[in-house]
Amino acid sequence: MPADHHAPHAALRLAQDLIRCPSVTPEDRGALDVVADALRQAGFTIERPVFAEPGFPDTPNLFARLGDRSPCLVFAGHTDVVPAGEGAWRHDPFEGAVVDGMLYGRGAADMKGGIACMLAATLAFLVDRGPDFPGSIAFLITGDEEGPAVNGTVKLLDWARARGERFDHCVLGEPTNPGRLGEMIKIGRRGSLTGKLTVLGRQGHVAYPYKAENPIPGLLRLASALVAEPLDGGTAHFDASNLEFTTIDVGNPATNVIPATARATFNVRFNDDWTAESLGAEIRRRLEQAAGNAVRFSLDLQPSNAPAFLTRPDGFVDLVSEAIRAETGLTPVLSTTGGTSDARFIKDFCPVIEFGLVGETMHQTDECVAVADLERLTAIYERVLKAYFPVS
Ligand SMILES: [Zn+2]
Repeated sequence: MPADHHAPHAALRLAQDLIRCPSVTPEDRGALDVVADALRQAGFTIERPVFAEPGFPDTPNLFARLGDRSPCLVFAGHTDVVPAGEGAWRHDPFEGAVVDGMLYGRGAADMKGGIACMLAATLAFLVDRGPDFPGSIAFLITGDEEGPAVNGTVKLLDWARARGERFDHCVLGEPTNPGRLGEMIKIGRRGSLTGKLTVLGRQGHVAYPYKAENPIPGLLRLASALVAEPLDGGTAHFDASNLEFTTIDVGNPATNVIPATARATFNVRFNDDWTAESLGAEIRRRLEQAAGNAVRFSLDLQPSNAPAFLTRPDGFVDLVSEAIRAETGLTPVLSTTGGTSDARFIKDFCPVIEFGLVGETMHQTDECVAVADLERLTAIYERVLKAYFPVS
């Protein structure tokens, strides 16, 4: 193993190597080679399954494991990134420039920087402890998280399960800290459910409304009924569930025509009081009650693969919190806020927590992270490894 992986700048160099691969979903452009090369030198067995599905781009993935004993600690993440976007970057998004202590580039925060820290921490741990630690370490890295997420973590987990792989705990390196490294661990995520509501009327002339049936007042009535009462009051680890309308569409260009239909789309971010099924039933109940016999409607609930989930704050969460406290002096908040992530799939295999870099600039122009944070996150992950695999 090259000694430079134990040097203080190993994480920075790996992050730069990753950023220099313009791996905008579903492209890889060598990003997984960077991960594979680092892990192969450390003795990991590497597998590179490519998953395919009609209608979706084939996507490369990586699974690596060192050791066959339990417990098995998994580091998970994605090497794909969102496009650079329309804005003018001060530094090329795929150059990995370091200016005034900040590393710039698409994926610096989300989440090539996090992957670089996982790799650097693992290599440093193995230099210190050698390969005979009591357990195993695995990496689940996908190239399809920012895109459709069809040929990524879901299939990689199924593939690993079919091979008989068993995992005990997982750290997903998404950028969980809003502004400062050490502020926030995610121990769960809200679920997401999208609904499309259509109110049916009968088209006609505005001057002869008794010959038509205007769907717009009915849509307003149903929409109001959906948000009239809160869905819940929040739970021990979650905020209250929230329903937001994202669009209301009639699309009627004429001023003298009563339209035939009116549509609205909404999305609910829901907590662990609900499943997608129970929430769908409550939404239908509210709509039917408001509609009575007066409003004809149809509701299309989009199939959801994003349930709410919670990783019980137990010994593993404590272990990670303690590593963060030791390096940063901060006690991380245990949060379930934010959008969905691949943790929603991993949670079916083992308890998963998310902790990574500061996400302030993720998906933005001039995405960047502090080089000092790369080094501190590496130190945190290394502490996690040492605490997870104690010297007997
Ligand atoms: Zn991400």
